[in-house]
Amino acid sequence: MAAKPKVPVKLVSWDEIVEWSRGLASRIEESGWKPDVIVAVARGGYVPARLLCDFLDVTDLLSVQSQHWVEAARMAEKAILKFPYKLDLSDLKVLLVDDIVDTGDTLILAKDFIAREWTPKDLKIAALQWISPVAKIKPDYYYIEVKEWIWFQYPWTRLEDTMQFITRIFREDERVKGKIIREDELKSVFKEWYGIEPESLGFYWDMALEKLAAKGVLERVEGGFKAVKV
Ligand code: AMP
Repeated sequence: MAAKPKVPVKLVSWDEIVEWSRGLASRIEESGWKPDVIVAVARGGYVPARLLCDFLDVTDLLSVQSQHWVEAARMAEKAILKFPYKLDLSDLKVLLVDDIVDTGDTLILAKDFIAREWTPKDLKIAALQWISPVAKIKPDYYYIEVKEWIWFQYPWTRLEDTMQFITRIFREDERVKGKIIREDELKSVFKEWYGIEPESLGFYWDMALEKLAAKGVLERVEGGFKAVKV
């Protein structure tokens, strides 16, 4: 049996996203509650929120953007809201939507902000997935309960994630750090780290390497790749 990957990754397909969003919409409908407006948490909540608008026949779609930043002194990740604009939604029922509830920090922040600054008539939370053992909040609606932490590689962040996955190998793997590594070696280290075949990423693999080289993170050299600034 293959060794456990360092960072377990599940590639999520567009078809799964449609299926999960449809399932989530059914749960909301079955509850008898209908939102007047949907608020997507940018950026992960955009696609699920747009699909929920379609499945639930909701026209109004707004957004708040969360951003994670590392507090310099403490090395702790903190979520903040960018563009904290004010609205009056006191006549409306609001559904706040994100892709996944992991720590739950993002949704707690967004929910508190909306409740305080937009004062909706009612406010509920929906997410495609809920990582129940670690989340500080349980969404009112979810489609999948995740019991063991995995990184869900959603189709809308495939390039960004692949670039970060590769960068992390160059930064942390002793076999790779400061060396020239052949692409086939890199592929096998990648598989070991993340448990997925680079081939399953399709064109994103080549694109990620190209972008990392263009950004000056990696350098394409005779025989393979070498880290420049990771
Ligand atoms: P949270 O830790 O709940 O504040 O998560 C913030 C955001 O990070 C989520 O909305 C996702 O976009 C992303 N995220 C966090 N954990 C995961 C995961 N396990 N898989 C995929 N995306 C994640």
